[in-house]
Amino acid sequence: MQGLPYNDYGNAMRQRFGGRVQKLAVDAGLSCPNRDGRVGFGGCTFCLNDAFSPSYCREGGSLSAQLNRAMSFHSSRGRCGDYYLAYLQAGTNTYSDIEKLRGIYSELLSHPNVSGLIVGTRPDCISSEILDVLEDLSHGKYLAIEYGVESVYDATLRRVNRGHNFESAVRAVAMTKERGLDVGGHFILGLPGESISDIVGGVSRINDLGLDFVKFHQLQIYRGTAMEREYISLPNDFIFANGFGIDDYIALVCDVLRRLDFSIAVERLLSQAPVRLLSTSLLGGIRPDEFRNRVVERLNSLGAVQGDLANI
Ligand code: SF4
Repeated sequence: MQGLPYNDYGNAMRQRFGGRVQKLAVDAGLSCPNRDGRVGFGGCTFCLNDAFSPSYCREGGSLSAQLNRAMSFHSSRGRCGDYYLAYLQAGTNTYSDIEKLRGIYSELLSHPNVSGLIVGTRPDCISSEILDVLEDLSHGKYLAIEYGVESVYDATLRRVNRGHNFESAVRAVAMTKERGLDVGGHFILGLPGESISDIVGGVSRINDLGLDFVKFHQLQIYRGTAMEREYISLPNDFIFANGFGIDDYIALVCDVLRRLDFSIAVERLLSQAPVRLLSTSLLGGIRPDEFRNRVVERLNSLGAVQGDLANI
């Protein structure tokens, strides 16, 4: 889609690589320090790890087998890539002993069809040693770290039992940028206690992080999570309660984009989870491509583009 009023990640990666880039999610089966007690127990209140793993990951097997299945999966849906990037999404993919991590990254980066690796992790779970291993194994292939920042507000991070503060994200991003790796940040819009003005006002802190790409998505409330219980008992603490619908979310996303520096590529604006996992479908199941079209329409109708209000 040419001429988008925002810096689309897919287009940015296509320009960078010179062809279509397809990410291949793989699951290395690593655990999480916010579940096993190293940082906390119980995990983040919104987390349902199953929701992060595509079906082809759940079939198990080696990482190479998962990559091969992922390529077939995407090809069968018309999403062939000119380039493929392995993507460690579920769990905390820097949380293990260094030799195990070396083995995981090495297997992924040495796959003949893989042009790079994106490692998803927590901001409090990165070290120089891990960055050394990644650099050592890359042999010129693309590397990025994607940090789950989730919110720029410490009060929210505490409330969702995240187990780290915003300063952890500031440090992790700076440390990763120093190595010349790409850095992404993941943010959830609509966490409890955050108003619309909190969300929009927090974008300047995202700009200050120095990220290369971001993913935003609406809060998803999964069955059986602590977040589900909180949503039922304290609905007024959630912007999504009380009639906040798809048009309101489109307006919110446009307001966020208008304050986001244009240099930051936007990978996602909406997430889609399997309905069977959701406690409640907050936005009525709109498809991401339809959602994106409506965001574009709104920005165009306003004569607005990403970042036009970033320095106001
Ligand atoms: S969201 Fe990430 S950090 Fe939080 S419990 Fe789930 S896997 Fe752990």
